[in-house]
Amino acid sequence: MATFGTLSDRLAETFKNLRTKGKLSASDVDGTVRDIRRALLEADVAFEVAKTFSTTVRERALGDEVNRALNPAQQVVQIVNEELVGILGGQQRRLEFAKNPPTVIMLAGLQGAGKTTLAGKLAKWLAKEGHTPLLVAADLQRPNAVTQLGVVAEQAGAAIFAPEPGNGVGDPVTVAKNSIKYARDKQYDTVIVDTAGRLGVDAEMMDQAARIRRAVDPDEVLFVIDAMTGQDAVATAKAFQDGVDFTGVVLSKLDGDARGGAALSVASMTGRPIIFASTGEGLDDFEPFHPDRMASRILD
Ligand code: GDP
Repeated sequence: MATFGTLSDRLAETFKNLRTKGKLSASDVDGTVRDIRRALLEADVAFEVAKTFSTTVRERALGDEVNRALNPAQQVVQIVNEELVGILGGQQRRLEFAKNPPTVIMLAGLQGAGKTTLAGKLAKWLAKEGHTPLLVAADLQRPNAVTQLGVVAEQAGAAIFAPEPGNGVGDPVTVAKNSIKYARDKQYDTVIVDTAGRLGVDAEMMDQAARIRRAVDPDEVLFVIDAMTGQDAVATAKAFQDGVDFTGVVLSKLDGDARGGAALSVASMTGRPIIFASTGEGLDDFEPFHPDRMASRILD
């Protein structure tokens, strides 16, 4: 899991300075808030998020809860913790299942974000939870994508629905649509639809994803974002929100030395919860996302 190295270190340093004080003056609070804001910006947190965050922390830190506290510095750390949990989405949001199976989960995101890998991870996780997942190859853009999905399906021990070899590449919208009927007939209770991405936001890709969405009427649309994306994360997320919309976010590559910006910006800028974190290339490197645990990790 990402250590948020620099961000964690910077915050720890800030709080260390604060702890040398007894009662906090307004200028102590201002200095601390300025340091926190700078640390967030350096970690690639979106400007607006860093600004709102520091304004809220400042208001609370100047208020009664800190004045009355036995240990004011500790109270400020507590406020920062609570506000971090807040921007990460607050309560844990679990994956939602349809009342009438199959539950349809569509994956969207840029090429290389980690969608196909996630499809395998989700399938394995769902199977362990007693579900019967079907992986659907609706990424027909890259010649290799169907093969790659086949590999992860096999590793996950899950079934795959893909265009027949030799039948031409097929139309991803039709493939996705047919997969739902197939799942119903064969009694798979969860359908995971992998879709095509491009290196950058692209109108044609977005249109295709939107058409797949309409064709399969998913219960969840998971937007997969590479945590290493940095400042671009919010713009990419907003483009996907406008183009396809999504119900939840998956942060991938949290095992890398992500500075934390994407993780800390995307949920609050889109109003969509982070549901899973992906932490490596292996199919088990994956876990449901807990805002409170992530906040503690940052403030560790
Ligand atoms: P897609 O184009 O969105 O389907 O992305 P892929 O699933 O093909 O992933 C792109 C690359 O990132 C592959 O080499 C994956 O092995 C790698 N990858 C995916 N998820 C993770 C992750 O959580 N951590 C790391 N380190 N690598 C990942």
